[in-house]
Amino acid sequence: MSLKNKVVLVSGGTRGIGYAIVKGFLDSGARVVLLGSRKESVDRALTKLKNENEAYEVLGYYPDLSKENEIVEMLEDVKKKLAASVDILVNNAGISDAKSIYEYDDTHFADVMQVNVDAMFRLTRLCVPMMKEKGKGVVINTSSMVSLYAQTSGSAYPTSKFAVNGMTKSLARELGKDGIRVNAVAPGITATDMVKALDQTIIERMAANIPLRRLGESEDIANAVLFLACDAASYITGAVLSVDGGFVG
Ligand code: NAD
Repeated sequence: MSLKNKVVLVSGGTRGIGYAIVKGFLDSGARVVLLGSRKESVDRALTKLKNENEAYEVLGYYPDLSKENEIVEMLEDVKKKLAASVDILVNNAGISDAKSIYEYDDTHFADVMQVNVDAMFRLTRLCVPMMKEKGKGVVINTSSMVSLYAQTSGSAYPTSKFAVNGMTKSLARELGKDGIRVNAVAPGITATDMVKALDQTIIERMAANIPLRRLGESEDIANAVLFLACDAASYITGAVLSVDGGFVG
């Protein structure tokens, strides 16, 4: 792996899949900037990481991802503190949805799109100029198996994740000439805290439909992200890599 000293920015890095991605990069010798939505969750994640390994080089911020000025301020502060700009951007922040079409209103739909699509585009737009300057960079987006398979309710969520795949593939085509690779991972059902809290019989029923007969762990997704980030994947761009135990594949 060639991730030593790379500066990696991970949105939604405070828990679940994002936290495993942050830890994976730190264990590979990268310097990580984790983003969360609230000060308390960012502080909690930083403390947990420092307790695991005092030597981890990690910073935390909670910019409002709907505000360009807050993101720009954060990026400037990172540059000052690390004397380097972002090499690898992992757009992982996301919210899911389960509403029926009969219960939706425009605001609810817009809220899902705002976090899953608009914020991803904004963060990418503000980071890629720094990568272009260096002639090298990587963007990895967290999509979902529902971006290929859809789901039976909460249609804003698959809609947003289809958009993530479209953004990934479009930007891969546009940014390849600047040395920037853009890929996505599409996790299946992943055993984050929310899923782990479900009844064991529900978990077993879900696992029975997965070819590998288990739910994904956050580390399974993080491993795929690490692979796409490193030079072993230097000829891969525009891919949406399924990490779902073969469920959609
Ligand atoms: P989670 O709810 O445990 O964590 C979400 C993260 O996103 C948190 O760090 C949170 O701070 C951040 N976030 C949420 N809303 C935000 C906002 N408005 N502004 C800034 N940050 C915000 O989620 P997770 O299950 O770990 O999911 C992470 C990603 O993986 C998401 O993009 C999700 O769509 C995707 N995903 C998850 C699963 C799964 O089964 N868990 C499956 C497929 C895809």
